[in-house]
Amino acid sequence: MATAVAATASSLSLLFAHPHSHRRCSTSKPFASPHLRRPLRASPHRAQCASDAAASTTATKHRRPAEENIREEAARLREPGHDFSAWYVPFPPTPDDDPNERYSLDDVVYRSSSGGLLDVCHDMEALARFPGSYWRDLFDSRVGRTTWPYGSGVWSKKEFVLPDIDSDHIVSLFEGNSNLFWAERLGREHLGGMTDLWVKHCGISHTGSFKDLGMTVLVSQVNHLRRAPLSRPINGVGCASTGDTSAALSAYCAAAGIPAIVFLPADRISLQQLIQPIANGATVLSLDTDFDGCMRLIREVTAELPIYLANSLNSLRLEGQKTAAAIEILQQFDWQVPDWVIVPGGNLGNIYAFYKGYEMCRVLGLVDRVPRLVCAQAANANPLYRFYKSGWSEFQPLVAETTFASAIQIGDPVSVDRAVLALKATDGIVQEATEEELVDAMALADRTGMFACPHTGVARAALSSFEISASLGLMTAQWLLVQRMG
Ligand SMILES: *Cc1c(COP(=O)(O)O)cnc(C)c1O
Repeated sequence: MATAVAATASSLSLLFAHPHSHRRCSTSKPFASPHLRRPLRASPHRAQCASDAAASTTATKHRRPAEENIREEAARLREPGHDFSAWYVPFPPTPDDDPNERYSLDDVVYRSSSGGLLDVCHDMEALARFPGSYWRDLFDSRVGRTTWPYGSGVWSKKEFVLPDIDSDHIVSLFEGNSNLFWAERLGREHLGGMTDLWVKHCGISHTGSFKDLGMTVLVSQVNHLRRAPLSRPINGVGCASTGDTSAALSAYCAAAGIPAIVFLPADRISLQQLIQPIANGATVLSLDTDFDGCMRLIREVTAELPIYLANSLNSLRLEGQKTAAAIEILQQFDWQVPDWVIVPGGNLGNIYAFYKGYEMCRVLGLVDRVPRLVCAQAANANPLYRFYKSGWSEFQPLVAETTFASAIQIGDPVSVDRAVLALKATDGIVQEATEEELVDAMALADRTGMFACPHTGVARAALSSFEISASLGLMTAQWLLVQRMG
C-alpha cells in the first residue's frame, strides 16, 4: 500500500495495471491528449485499442482505457434504466399504522410516526417480472469481478439492496465474497460425525467483521444524500458500538471522506477494535458506561445535530447484511438451501437480515425454501433467550454481564421484534452458551485450525446442544457455519 501511495500516477498504471486496462495502450500512450481522449471515452468499443486488437481478441474485449478509472467506466457503460425501487415502511406493520405511511430512502428518518422501527421495503412486483433464474444468473455473472460496483459481494446484488442509488455515489471496499469452507474435522471429530458442516468466514472482511457488509450500504446512502443534487447538510455519521460497528463505520467514512464520530464503552472493546477508528481519523469518545448507555447518548446527539445515525436501528445496514452474508451462502451452495443457519445475536439486526435475504430469494424464485435459523446468545447477555423460553410471553431488557463475546454484550436489543419475526417465520430456535461453554467451543474449533473468535464460540457451543442429526448447520458472525442438505 505504501508503495502505491508513493508511486507517481504514471508508474501506478504500470505497477498496478488493472487486468482489464490495456497495458500496451497505456504504456505506448501514457498521456493521451485530452482532445484525443474525449471521443474515445464516449465510444463503447474503446477504439483506441483497436491497433492492438490483433494481439489478443479475448484480452481486448473488456479493456478499459488506462486513463479511465472504474467509476468512470461504469458511468460510460451505464445500464439502461429500470423501474426497481425501495422505500421505508414501519416495522412491524401494526393495525394502528397508517397503511400509506412510507418514506423515501432519501429522507433522514429512523423511526415510524408511532416511534417504532422502520424497514426497507422493495418493489417486489417489479423484481418479480424477472424469473428466479434471471437473478441467479445475473448475480453469478458478477461474483468477484472488478466491474464497478459489482465486485463487492453486496453490490453484486444491487437491485436487491439500493436499486436507485447512482453507482457513482457508492462507497465500497469490495466487501463480501468471503469464503465458505467445509469444516471437515470439526464436524467429524468433535460434533459426532457431522458430515456437512460449513463455516462462512466473515472475519476476513476488511475491518474484521461482517459489519462491513451493512456499512457499505449506509455510508453509500449518506454519500448520496450529501452529494448533488440532494446536497443534504449532513455533517457526519455517528454510532454507538461494541467495537465492530465503529471499526466498519470509520473505515467507510474515511474511504468517502465523510467525518465519523463513535461512542464506545470504555475498557470493554479490544485494542484492535479501538485502534481502527483512531487510525481512520474518526472522533472517538470512550464513555464510562456500557453499550446500552452509549446507544442512548448517540440517539440524543443525532436527534439534535446534523449527524446521521449508523446503528442497526437504521434499517439500511440490514440490506447489506442480508445480501452478502445470507444470499451469498445460497449462491456459494449453487442456490441450494442449507437446513440450519446459526447466527450469534446481540442487537439482533443480523438474524433478521438473514431471514430477509432468504425470504426475498424464496419469494422471487431463486430458491424454493428458507433455512431454519438459530440465534445464539451468550448466557451473560441473553434477553432473547429468556424471551424465547417464556414462550414469547414477555420481553424483559436486562443489564448485560461481561462476556468474552463482547460484540453481543447487549441487554436491551434494538431489533428484538425483528428477531422474533425471523425466528417464528423460519421455525427457528434460540440457544445460549455460558462463558465456559463458549471458550471450550472456541478451543475445539482452534484445534481444527480455525482460530475462532468468542462469537464463533457462542454459535459453536449452540451447535453442541442440538440433538445432533445427520443434517445440521451452524453459523456465526466471524464464522458462519452452515450445513446443507445432503
Ligand atoms: C455485531 C456482531 C454480532 C451481533 O449482531 P447483531 O446484529 O448485533 O445481533 C455478532 N458477532 C459479531 C462478531 C458482531 O460484530
